[in-house]
Amino acid sequence: MTDPRTVILPGGVAVTALGQGTWGIGEDPRRRAAEVSALRAGLDLGMTLVDTAEMYGDGAAEEVVAEAVAGRRDEVFLVSKVLPSHADARGVAEACRGSLRRLRTDRIDLYLLHWRGAVPLEETVEAFESLVREGAIRSWGVSNLDVDDLADLPPGARPQTDQVLYNLSRRGPEYSLLPRCRELSIPVMAYSPVEQGRLLDHWALRDVAAAHGATPAQIALAWVLRHEDVIAIPKASSRAHVEENRTALDVHLTAEDLAMLDRAFPPPESKRPLEML
Ligand code: NDP
Repeated sequence: MTDPRTVILPGGVAVTALGQGTWGIGEDPRRRAAEVSALRAGLDLGMTLVDTAEMYGDGAAEEVVAEAVAGRRDEVFLVSKVLPSHADARGVAEACRGSLRRLRTDRIDLYLLHWRGAVPLEETVEAFESLVREGAIRSWGVSNLDVDDLADLPPGARPQTDQVLYNLSRRGPEYSLLPRCRELSIPVMAYSPVEQGRLLDHWALRDVAAAHGATPAQIALAWVLRHEDVIAIPKASSRAHVEENRTALDVHLTAEDLAMLDRAFPPPESKRPLEML
């Protein structure tokens, strides 16, 4: 197994290109032990970027993450998100305190605006900057922002990432968002990289997987990770899925594989509005 590939964020921090998502965890106490164990297996395999949000399970996902990272906080790059309804100056500070308490930590490595709402971006960015000064967060970024939204960020604002829906069946960002992020040197964090599992029965993925002795999930992840500046954050709640996903970093897609996947999942020929899940 190769070492986990890293992506350098604009602030200079190197993070693993293959992280772990947490949407849907913490919602059933009977699954908690397996979820903690899966996240810890991912950390053991170098998938040390963990993405969560105050929204997930109404805070319950952050509590599971706290249990998984207990005793090994320094190994982990913790990402959490503030809801747009909390994105005003006071709301951001309160939401961050709540996330820190549930995560049982003194800092969040990367704090994202979950999606754009009614609060002016300038106010949210100012609130983020003040949390950076206080040491409560190390850096900030955005999520679900399209090209026009990025242009509305206040002058000089420097998000560390834009976390967006990107996978084989959601290629819209390739038209202008990925190129724009590349111009701005903002790595994209691809969420739902296996389309919440819905992609995995597709014939083209099965064919490419068979040719590599791999699984469809590994091919879907290897495809997202073919870009050097894209991070993928699949969510898996079993150790078996985590281990399978980790091996995606060892899959190298050929030009023929990519051509077949292009035929099955055509790239965008015009601008499509950014999709969200
Ligand atoms: P994913 O595309 O990561 O899919 C997760 C689903 O795929 C789960 O049901 C999981 O099953 C299954 N799965 C994972 N690995 C495998 C595998 N190897 N084989 C078969 N099935 C597999 O979807 P998510 O929507 O969860 O996206 C990932 C993360 O991105 C989220 O968890 C969240 O952290 C973030 N996100 C951010 C959003 C935003 O607005 N910023 C929106 C949506 C997601 P199982 O659990 O049984 O292992």
